[in-house]
Amino acid sequence: MTETTTHEFMLQFAAEAIGLRAQKDGYEPSVYDAKHDPEGYITSLLNALHQWSHANGIDWEGELARAQGFFEQDISDCEGADSEPLAKPDISELRCPNCGHEQSFVIEVSECLLMFADGVVLHGDSGEEWGDWSSCRCHECCHRGTVYQFRKPKQEKEVITHG
Ligand SMILES: [Zn+2]
Repeated sequence: MTETTTHEFMLQFAAEAIGLRAQKDGYEPSVYDAKHDPEGYITSLLNALHQWSHANGIDWEGELARAQGFFEQDISDCEGADSEPLAKPDISELRCPNCGHEQSFVIEVSECLLMFADGVVLHGDSGEEWGDWSSCRCHECCHRGTVYQFRKPKQEKEVITHG
């Protein structure tokens, strides 16, 4: 059994979503040319998600920033399948890709707590969890993205690749 990468999963899912949108206009999902998207259903799907976020008080700009971070991570995982995965990020190895600030970041972490009805809260032993996928904001310029995008080695690699 071959392992499906996140990239392959996402492509498959996108094809299904575009097909579903085409179906609303009377296309057979298998007939519509999703690869060239002549009807502009990709724009329509993005618009739909934007309206959904607007109607439900979800931070659309934040969603876009996170989505861009996940995109870069998935493409990188897919292209560098042979290279070693990055170690857990360390705060000292982060830098804002926008302004170069290195001293402080606002990072979203999750933690499991044991909570009792009488108000007692116990911290679990797993502690705070965060990683490349976590939302990250520069404390200096408020640039937003994921921790992955704030990694110094990643930014240095990009300079070499695109330089
Ligand atoms: Zn910054």
